Amino acid sequence: MNYQRILEQVINQTDPLVAVGHQADYIPALAEVNPDQRGICLHTLSGEQYAVGDSDVRFSIQSISKVFALAMALSLEGDNLWTRMGKEPSGTAFNSLFQLELEHGVPRNPFINAGAIVMADILVSHMLDPEHDFLAFVRRLAANETINYNRLVAFSERSTGYMNAAIANLLKYHGNIHNNIERVLQFYCMMCSIEMSCNELATAFLPFADHLRPFSFGGVELTSSQVKRMNAIMQTCGFYDEAGEFSYLVGLPGKSGVGGGIAAIHPQHYAVAVWSPRLNEKGNSVVGMKALELLTTETKESIF
Ligand code: GLN
Repeated sequence: MNYQRILEQVINQTDPLVAVGHQADYIPALAEVNPDQRGICLHTLSGEQYAVGDSDVRFSIQSISKVFALAMALSLEGDNLWTRMGKEPSGTAFNSLFQLELEHGVPRNPFINAGAIVMADILVSHMLDPEHDFLAFVRRLAANETINYNRLVAFSERSTGYMNAAIANLLKYHGNIHNNIERVLQFYCMMCSIEMSCNELATAFLPFADHLRPFSFGGVELTSSQVKRMNAIMQTCGFYDEAGEFSYLVGLPGKSGVGGGIAAIHPQHYAVAVWSPRLNEKGNSVVGMKALELLTTETKESIF
């Protein structure tokens, strides 16, 4: 498969979409990113790497970090994790409050904000220095020690994140947050603020495509069955109320973030990461969704 040629075609075909949508500005620091950038990077299990465009520019991974948090929480808690949250698609926005109220403080899944805030609480309970341990894990997974938090973005989100504060308070009311709310939200915002490039994200996601090998990075150990199950959750819950659309158009497990990134995997084949800051009304990158749709259409490869 000539992935380099295909990625070039795919990016060219997204030309008419580069100016469509709006970059996230509810986190003020994200509004300062140049929205005209786009990049894509694909790493295969056999060791080939292909890239086009701004694939080495770091951006705010935001909710893509929820995949890394799930890997850590699952390795620490195993199936006990599912007493604190579900694994069903939400069909609601990533920061929705009403479903959490109806369901008595049990988040639908780990990839909506409520679920990730509970995972942040779990990591705070288990670790003396969760900020250090989380970053160490991501650095190990991406094989890059220079990956870091962007404290300005984390502070910008924490000082304006009224919806996440409401979610955390509702969780605490229902007994599903065990630590101090402020501490948990601070750590949640730090996780979201990590900056990585498409190239680094493709490296970090490749082990999820390689589930036949043991997953062991920076003290995070998962069985191949746990990795497969994480992929199942990415497939059904990775795109909030657009998970069905992504599954229909792209057909790969993946995870998006409001920084405009999407990382996806083709199990036993490759990991791919794409980035462009302008989002559709569901909070997913317009160019990113289209590029991955074109990739799996052009290659005729998806999980289906
Ligand atoms: N940090 C963002 C928030 O909580 C993450 C949302 C996202 O990327 N979808 O609002």
